[in-house]
Amino acid sequence: MADSGLLIVVSGPSGAGKGTICDALRARFPQVHYSISMTTRPPRPGEKEGVNYYFTDTAHFEALLAQDAFLEYAKVYDHYYGTPKQYVYDALARGEHVLLEIDIQGAMQVRKHYPQCLCVYIVPPNRQVLAARLHGRHTDSEEVIAGRLQKTQAELAWMKEYDYVIVNDRLAAAIEQMEAIIRAEACRCARN
Ligand code: 5GP
Repeated sequence: MADSGLLIVVSGPSGAGKGTICDALRARFPQVHYSISMTTRPPRPGEKEGVNYYFTDTAHFEALLAQDAFLEYAKVYDHYYGTPKQYVYDALARGEHVLLEIDIQGAMQVRKHYPQCLCVYIVPPNRQVLAARLHGRHTDSEEVIAGRLQKTQAELAWMKEYDYVIVNDRLAAAIEQMEAIIRAEACRCARN
């Protein structure tokens, strides 16, 4: 039996539905810890400190970076995002699973430090669906949405670096696939 918990890394373009899938998983796997990232991006309406993110400023983030406090970090759309290291390692050492919802740059850093992590990439079925989802969220300007769509094209090339890819065409099916992957990986005899 594995003596450490699973480190589950979930990435995908914004609008692919990874947040919705991860939220649904919370109900099904109450034993999985959700790492809360720190970011210098300002909170969006409805977002709460310590729930969605730990919101901070650049000086504080960079001070923590210098102290090697992050398992990984990235600059996404001009803002820092990072995963506080201690929380993740403590939970894994207790044999508990931890889920990180992070971008590709971060996922590749985690893979380097912790090669046995489980990396899952969530994609929208096509560009039209992605554009419609981004517009439907009403959280970003046209300019930001255009930037996100452009970035998605480049990101798709990284898909092959992940262990699993889920096409989020039907939400219920995508959640089921994600659940099946985690259950199977948690039963694996040895991970390398
Ligand atoms: P948003 O600003 O929409 O919440 O997130 C923007 C992007 O940053 C998403 O792709 C999200 O997965 C990623 N992200 C969130 N937290 C982290 C983190 O701690 N590290 C990295 N590398 N990316 C993150």
